[in-house]
Amino acid sequence: MIAGTGCNSYQGLSGDYEHSFQIRGDVEIPQKISTLMGYRIKRVTKDNRNATAIALADVINTAKPRSTSYDLLFVGADGLSSKIKGDDLTGCNLAYTDQYDWELINELHPISSQVKNLREIIVISTNCEDDKNAVGINDQSGYRSTTAGNLFLSGFKEKRIFEGQSQLNEKEVTVYTTHEIIALDDILSYDKEIAVFSRDGSVTFDKPGDDSFFEITETGIDYTAVDKTQVIDVAGIIADPPKFSITDVASDTIHQLEKGNNVMVIELDGLGWQMLETAKEKGRAPYLASLPAQQALSVFPPISPAGLAAMITGTTPDINGIAGRGVMDFNGEDIFEKAQKLGKRVAYIEGDVKMLNTSVEPVLSVNEGAQDSRVFENTQKAIADNNQLIFTHFHSIDDDATTYGPYALENMEQIELVDRMVQQLVKDFNGMVIITADHGLHPTETAGTHGRVCSEDMLVPYIMIKGGQV
Ligand SMILES: [Zn+2]
Repeated sequence: MIAGTGCNSYQGLSGDYEHSFQIRGDVEIPQKISTLMGYRIKRVTKDNRNATAIALADVINTAKPRSTSYDLLFVGADGLSSKIKGDDLTGCNLAYTDQYDWELINELHPISSQVKNLREIIVISTNCEDDKNAVGINDQSGYRSTTAGNLFLSGFKEKRIFEGQSQLNEKEVTVYTTHEIIALDDILSYDKEIAVFSRDGSVTFDKPGDDSFFEITETGIDYTAVDKTQVIDVAGIIADPPKFSITDVASDTIHQLEKGNNVMVIELDGLGWQMLETAKEKGRAPYLASLPAQQALSVFPPISPAGLAAMITGTTPDINGIAGRGVMDFNGEDIFEKAQKLGKRVAYIEGDVKMLNTSVEPVLSVNEGAQDSRVFENTQKAIADNNQLIFTHFHSIDDDATTYGPYALENMEQIELVDRMVQQLVKDFNGMVIITADHGLHPTETAGTHGRVCSEDMLVPYIMIKGGQV
């Protein structure tokens, strides 16, 4: 009787097999497959043997590869492996036989691809840039990205890590777990200080040593720091990170207010460090070029609401809860609430939409268009009204860098306009001024975008100067 037709069931399908295999790497849902049940069954013939099989494509689809282009690495129990392209899996079947347990039968591929005693299928994204789980790596060699699947392919060491010891009747047992470790040298050309960003929004600074390591997990990579701090699901690494962070806005603001100084924070949305450097070189930011700027780290993800929340709360997204778009309520006190507790008059100037549920309502700059001119006018009013803390959020640089590209002429011209507005505001304001950005942008083929751990997105200028002196 042929299995899978009508109501008949094939005897071999009724239960779990002795061995299972795993699908992991660059997938959304790692799978452990121990039965043919739940899949469309077919009969295949190989070397005059009949076998019950399932289509490889069906099995791979259940794991949801993260990228549209991927390779598949098949690993057998004997350690032998073979790799094929994932774009055409016609004729590729998985069978379970008494002789070879899980067996890959690729009718249209060379015989060497037919792995027996299959234990793992590693999905490897071949275009890391369209894999949302890619890990961004930034060091002296610049930016590149990799994934768990690619790291598996490029090689790892197995490391046994002591988990515990127990004793019964004077018999002792020591338990270890095996980890797939990647040496730091295999990822980075730098080993002094690194900032490791987790996808949860936390950042861990570490001076890597013999006890620190990256390891491949089912779908990503984790990092264990020298002090045993664990970074789960690494989003990216920045070697030799700056000492400042946009979270310093909150502490610097409150510190200055406590000292009796008025504070104005000017957030220039999207103005990354590299973008400002380019504008300076092209003579498009004469005023900002005259100011002493420090490099500061943005937060992960480097997007507007996460950056704004980091500045006004002084905490990273894992703590303040703003790690994506669409969430308005954050955890913790913002600088407006803290300033009001110090008895200060506060004004918060936004673009045409509210971004977060802040403790004071923002002054919205309605009918803004793309020029930031209303944000500028509202900020001038806030200065004239003698506010002691002013937070003002300019949006046009992010808008133009997104539309035209971060280094495009149109964006450079916009930076020049904003540069003049900033100069005027600093001149008019009697107090300390902090000028920074939520994130930068990197170019795409046609425009600009942001959101990954690359230095263009993650490094921004941080300027602190005294106003009223221009
Ligand atoms: Zn932004």
